[in-house]
Amino acid sequence: MDEPSPAPGSRTLWGLGPGPLGLALVVELTAVAVAVAGLVALPAAGQPLLLALGLTALSVVHTELATGIERVRRRASENSYFDLSSVWTFAAALLLPPGLAAVVIVLVYVHLWHRVWAPAGIPLYRHVFTTATVLLAARAAHEVVALAGGLPADPTQPGVVLAVGLAVGSYVLVNTLLVGAVIALSGPRPVLRDLFGRWDDNALEVATLCMGALAAVALASTPALVALVLPPILVLHRAVLVRQLEQEASTDAKTGLLNAAAWQTQALRVVDRARRTGSGAGVLMLDLDHFKIVNDTHGHLAGDDVLAAVAAELRAEVRSHDVVGRFGGEEFVVLLPDLPAGGTGRTELWRVAERLRDRVSRLDVGVATSGGLRTVTGLSVSIGGATVPTDGTTLDQVLTAADASLYEAKAGGRNLVRIAADAHVPSPRRPTA
Ligand code: GH3
Ligand code: MG
Ligand code: MG
Repeated sequence: MDEPSPAPGSRTLWGLGPGPLGLALVVELTAVAVAVAGLVALPAAGQPLLLALGLTALSVVHTELATGIERVRRRASENSYFDLSSVWTFAAALLLPPGLAAVVIVLVYVHLWHRVWAPAGIPLYRHVFTTATVLLAARAAHEVVALAGGLPADPTQPGVVLAVGLAVGSYVLVNTLLVGAVIALSGPRPVLRDLFGRWDDNALEVATLCMGALAAVALASTPALVALVLPPILVLHRAVLVRQLEQEASTDAKTGLLNAAAWQTQALRVVDRARRTGSGAGVLMLDLDHFKIVNDTHGHLAGDDVLAAVAAELRAEVRSHDVVGRFGGEEFVVLLPDLPAGGTGRTELWRVAERLRDRVSRLDVGVATSGGLRTVTGLSVSIGGATVPTDGTTLDQVLTAADASLYEAKAGGRNLVRIAADAHVPSPRRPTA
């Protein structure tokens, strides 16, 4: 499975400096060497060949059926695709001699390339890398099961069940480590989620592999039973669709942050928890200063780029579990859970707000305008903050207090931080755009 979209927050594989490129080449050459070595050692056998043909055919059928679901999904999102073909490649890895499994994998990925990835505009080198990681992951899974006697399993050998479980683990591990290593080399400071993917993506991968293991067992005993795998795998595919729609419904397209409704839902939960447990939390409302000037000077599209750049700075400055949203227009909100209640929490909130204010004031954004490339500088933001429980115990109360503080920051001259009940914290000023 893969997610090629370069959308904000998603896994991006290729920064393509010399480091990631070198590693990708090593992975690809290793995969080719392993596959060729497997082919050379291939016994001239009839039944594995039939199984290989069957698995390739099933994958083709699955992909063709799934493109129907994908068409629905692509109406919602232009640039992403999920394929669950690892159900067939994993079954091949467990059942077939490694050389033959490699042939199945290559055929499956060539078909996927023509039907899915090439039309989606994904660069070929990227698909080749994915194929290489799958070849290596499949080989690792094969070796684990072979150690326990291989499939078809001897029913008196309970070790095979454990081995299939371990094979799922090793497939995921090899795949994740290889992809994660390239991403780690690509970015300056990748976060854990970029390296190892989202929790639910990995859960989906494991579920797909479990179906693959069942398909392998069916094929080894009563091959026709493998037909039973198709309906659940298509339903699983629909679950991906639902999850993606959910994610899109909660994301602000311009900035990749949570939209106002999604932010509110999460913030309500945090404030409720703070009320129940007697802990603290903080809310910051941020409004870019004189943003209209940016639009008037450079155009609305450049303004949009600036909004996205500011959003990225905010996201990068706070902790991963802080909730950052776009409230609307050029206004943002940040919720900080787990602050100490009272004065200590307020001071902490003020520090975070100052860091955000400072970061925005030092931000230079390159934008393309009708007059060529320009750099937008001299940005600033006014920030109002309020805390739970000092300024309120419901989200509405805290937001109202934060909004009043923001108004004070604007009235005080902009590029300022004001925290409720502490309204005169001094803060340096700079001329605005
Ligand atoms: P202040 O310091 O008082 O906040 O001044 P301001 O100019 O930022 O405030 P005002 O509310 O007068 O204007 C907000 C501007 O933000 C005007 C509007 O065009 C711009 N804006 C709102 N949403 C977007 C957007 O999605 N993209 C762009 N480019 N501009 C936006
Ligand atoms: Mg505004
Ligand atoms: Mg403004």
